[in-house]
Amino acid sequence: MSLHGAYDPDNIFAKILRGDMPSVKVWEDDDVLAFMDVFPQSEGHVLVVSKTSTARNILEIEPEPLAKLTSAVQRTARAVEKALKPEGLSLMQFNGDAGGQTVFHLHFHIVPRWTDRPMKGHGHAPMADAEQLKALAQKIAAALD
Ligand code: 5GP
Repeated sequence: MSLHGAYDPDNIFAKILRGDMPSVKVWEDDDVLAFMDVFPQSEGHVLVVSKTSTARNILEIEPEPLAKLTSAVQRTARAVEKALKPEGLSLMQFNGDAGGQTVFHLHFHIVPRWTDRPMKGHGHAPMADAEQLKALAQKIAAALD
């Protein structure tokens, strides 16, 4: 999908936001949802999406929901750091097919990093065990400020 075009209300994240598809939630409020990536590139890979914006990518979102989204990314990243004690954190955000995006509802990736654990490839990681994701989500949620 190119950078331009219509929002697909049946994309996976829209279904998750509507409750039509399950997800392992870390936290949410009226504006944002943070949930575990089911194909994590490292242990503790979290995705953060806006609940109010149907922007497909960074080019489309209005400043106000973007500010709320990026603030939520920072809050979540701080909790990931506190809970899992990674040595680093990679924040990623892809736009358009050619930019590596596969789900066309704007989102940020928070990927904890350790020097001795290579990050798995984007779109090539195996599916995680749901119980392990739930345990990680609880640990991260408990570390939220
Ligand atoms: P993108 O490639 O668009 O930047 O990232 C999409 C992300 O969504 C990928 O990291 C992928 O692993 C994740 N993903 C794909 N399908 C699902 C799903 O059904 N549930 C969850 N929680 N994550 C998904």
